[in-house]
Amino acid sequence: MQESYSLSGISILTSGSFLEKSSIKINQSEIQDIGTVSDKDIKVKGEAYLYPAIINVHDHFRGNYLPKVGPKEGTFYLNWSYWDNDLKSAPVYEEREKNTVEDLYALSMYKNIFAGVVTVNDHYPHNKNNKYVTKMPIRVVTDYTLVHAISSLSLNWGDPIEVEHKKAIDNNFPFITHCAEGFDKETQAAVKTLEKVKCLDDHDVLVHCIGFSDEDIKKVQKVGATIVWCPGSNMYMFNVTCKIRKILEAKINVCIGTDSTHSGTANILEEIRWAREVYKRMYHEEISPETLFKLVTINPARAFRMQHKIGSIEIGKLADLLLIKPGDKDPYNAIVNLQMEDIELLTCNGNPVYGAREYEELFKLRDVEYTKIKVRNRDKLIIGDPVRLMSRIRKAVGYKKTFDFIPLDD
Ligand SMILES: [Zn+2]
Repeated sequence: MQESYSLSGISILTSGSFLEKSSIKINQSEIQDIGTVSDKDIKVKGEAYLYPAIINVHDHFRGNYLPKVGPKEGTFYLNWSYWDNDLKSAPVYEEREKNTVEDLYALSMYKNIFAGVVTVNDHYPHNKNNKYVTKMPIRVVTDYTLVHAISSLSLNWGDPIEVEHKKAIDNNFPFITHCAEGFDKETQAAVKTLEKVKCLDDHDVLVHCIGFSDEDIKKVQKVGATIVWCPGSNMYMFNVTCKIRKILEAKINVCIGTDSTHSGTANILEEIRWAREVYKRMYHEEISPETLFKLVTINPARAFRMQHKIGSIEIGKLADLLLIKPGDKDPYNAIVNLQMEDIELLTCNGNPVYGAREYEELFKLRDVEYTKIKVRNRDKLIIGDPVRLMSRIRKAVGYKKTFDFIPLDD
């Protein structure tokens, strides 16, 4: 039985409003109440804003390694397969593979935790990731079906499209695939291919969609599928991203995903800021911080068909919470500008996974094993032991490896 507790003296962004100087009560894994406190109350000092934890809809846990691998200077790729070839013949790939798969998975878990994420999808077949992700203290989504990409070049992940898509319908899972990640004729015909095999519907979570025509956008909007926007990875590989303004105007369920750090930004916080920047460059106007927030909370919850459990702060939902020291009065601006060291507390199912030293009693209350660390000169606690992980990685590769998504001071 897990101990109940409450956090008080905080401002809470719920799906409907921003409650200043309020409190939240957590019973086992759920949000039990808002505005009241329990016997075990943690009074938060100073100004703090509470959000639902961030959701990273698209990542590759074996691929969060550095440096990036990209096209030759002054050139860009025609489709993803050229990148895949470059990656697999790059020296960094050889170095990466000196590490155990378990350590690469742990590295990816910390990439997400340090960025306020406790729900994430590892785009990879179940028989290859299940062993690692089911042991994790964050929610690496296991209820999904997939193919690698809608293309004859697709890597051999999962069963054929029709089989995987049917499994998604039968189980009420998302069907996740890279889609139109490039500009050759076949890659651009992805939506038509899905239509032809009768697999274009609201279970589909279509990643990238950079080769979409206006007609493709209309078709996706009509069936209620999700589009995943990965501007970091797209701009790096292709110098172009999807028609995001048109896609948003069509009221399609859009989410932001990081992709792996071999092509994307450091983490979801950087990806949010990059999304804002790319939007401004493309359209000479701002995408609202409120929209960006939805793209990493309730929209990915919908994409995973888990909106009744996660994605917003509501009584009865899981206590996946992100408490921050706001750098801006406006709660949406504050989350868009969030830095890893400004996270005060991050919980998954009510259990702390990352936070400031002040929350040590909560780590103890919930029996969480943690390590004391310094993140950009601030005292923090984190679940497990990323310091030992980094020393294993350094031993495996033979030099002092660092990653910008693992902000450990040493
Ligand atoms: Zn991907």
